[in-house]
Amino acid sequence: MARNLEPSCKQCRREGEKLFLKGSRCETDKCAMERRSYPPGEHGRGRIKETEYLLQLREKQKAKRIYGVLERQFRRYYGKASRQQGITGENLLYLLETRLDNVVYRGGLASSRQDARQLVRHGHVMVNGRKVNIPSYELRVGDVVELKEKSRDLVRVIQAVRAAEGRPVAPWLKVDLEKRRVEVLSRPRREDIDVPVKEHLIVELYSK
Ligand code: SF4
Repeated sequence: MARNLEPSCKQCRREGEKLFLKGSRCETDKCAMERRSYPPGEHGRGRIKETEYLLQLREKQKAKRIYGVLERQFRRYYGKASRQQGITGENLLYLLETRLDNVVYRGGLASSRQDARQLVRHGHVMVNGRKVNIPSYELRVGDVVELKEKSRDLVRVIQAVRAAEGRPVAPWLKVDLEKRRVEVLSRPRREDIDVPVKEHLIVELYSK
């Protein structure tokens, strides 16, 4: 399955902000954005003319990078969001948030979305008692996500759970870290989604 192979820190530097793609490292002074907060490449520190198109493009790229989604899939999400009732930009974020890998990460069972994606791909995750190894699997209200019993004490899981203890939980999820279990309680509202993305700019870009 295709995924973005660009180094994570380079992606943050390209967007000019921390996207928290590397788990605990992002909280330390080893974070590349702390030391080199300018875009990568030879012309990284040059001046760039900020056009409307560029702003829209950057928002789309940022959202793709945060959720680890490539262009074709992202477009599919946009198409689906635009066919749904309600505000397209919010629908788009809702679809991205309810991806299985995102919920594993939000529930504190993985230290980053990349790590969550790998846990899912390697067959450690179950939905409603059945193994699901598709990171983009769309969860619905009432679905229960758990780690397989033999996967609950993997070192990476223990580290992620420790880091998540005491951290606020998204109000649309019910998390039991001890049991490595996350339940989807409701559809997330826009104010519950704390990603730094201006979704209306993405909609403007795609509706040109
Ligand atoms: Fe981004 Fe994390 Fe790398 Fe910092 S350490 S640049 S937040 S991926």
